[in-house]
Amino acid sequence: MVTGDGAYIKRINRNLILQEIMNNGLISRAELSKITGLNKATISVQVQDLLKKKLIYETQQEHHAIGRRPIMLSINGSVGYVLGIDIDFSSIQFAITNIKGKEVEYIKINPETKDYESIVQLLTKYIQHYMNKFANSPYGLISVIIAVHGTVNNDEVINFVPKLQWKRKNLKADLELDIEIHIVNNANLSAYAEKVYSGQNDNLMSLMLTSGIGAGIIMDDQIHKGFNGYAGEMGHMIISPDGKKCPCGNNGCWELYASESTLLMELSQLLNRPTLTLKEIAELIERRDSTTMEYIKQFIKYLSIGINNMINLYNPETIVINSGILRIYPNTVKEIKSHLKSSISDYREITISKLGIKACVIGACAFAISKFLGISNLRIQDSDQFKEQTSVNNQTPELVNI
Ligand SMILES: [Zn+2]
Repeated sequence: MVTGDGAYIKRINRNLILQEIMNNGLISRAELSKITGLNKATISVQVQDLLKKKLIYETQQEHHAIGRRPIMLSINGSVGYVLGIDIDFSSIQFAITNIKGKEVEYIKINPETKDYESIVQLLTKYIQHYMNKFANSPYGLISVIIAVHGTVNNDEVINFVPKLQWKRKNLKADLELDIEIHIVNNANLSAYAEKVYSGQNDNLMSLMLTSGIGAGIIMDDQIHKGFNGYAGEMGHMIISPDGKKCPCGNNGCWELYASESTLLMELSQLLNRPTLTLKEIAELIERRDSTTMEYIKQFIKYLSIGINNMINLYNPETIVINSGILRIYPNTVKEIKSHLKSSISDYREITISKLGIKACVIGACAFAISKFLGISNLRIQDSDQFKEQTSVNNQTPELVNI
């Protein structure tokens, strides 16, 4: 940081102004001056520059009661786009939002291969496709944020993805594309999405139950990363000594007892069915099938052991649980709370995420927006646009097979 440097101060002021325009949706120059504490002349010069760069536009507020309608400022969403990619065990999600956080495209594919080189080829094809598709907007496709379900070091090199058995992979370099790319841990991006889109607070823990358990921790408004960037691998916290064997090398890891894939596998075995879908589980819950209800009760008990440990470690204000099945089950929050009996552990709220399986990709897009606009405290109001869209699958067919 160079203090007293004119250009540096200008940039800080610009970022602050963009942050308030973004977070307020519509705001006048006078309000901007009041909120930021910057004088009107500074606001005026910066706003002029942002208008010239097409990052914002002016509009007149409708239905203004008395006097002249003030000129309001808003982010010009369609001048540029960002791409979020979530690489899970058996599926890859792609989401594109404009720089205002509005989703313009979403696809989920199920590639047949888990081979690293083949996935690199597939990603290259998709990213190039989107770079071409949005090339005509003033800023085009600005950047790509790729989420991986494993540890990522501080240089953005993938350290280890247990489910895919990828070790020490420099995906960013291997993509060889002429666009800004960042590699981030999936759980960190899901936590970021909860903060940005759901208006959650600055001390939150998000638990994503998928093929494993991804824990994202935001402490004092910062993603908690640890020394190498590996913090938050809570799925591999041991909750049962001599328990089930985990691909990570240990026994009794939490995600072997409390992830959705465990739930699906164990419940289908108990019910003697070859497979189970989310829809079928919803029907079983609806008719209060006793095996299903009893099993989920037990599942929640295991989930709560890990939550108890995390609360004791981090003292979060809010814990957001992201699980399609637990969103349908009627007593999730109540039952978790009933297991949290320790008088030591303290938290304010436990909620079920509204963002669903898209939390990570839209968190990736939000992360890209915050980097592009230089906004440190990003808030995007419109989370309703992602509601219950989790089954959308409008694949771009010619790109799916490689
Ligand atoms: Zn493990």
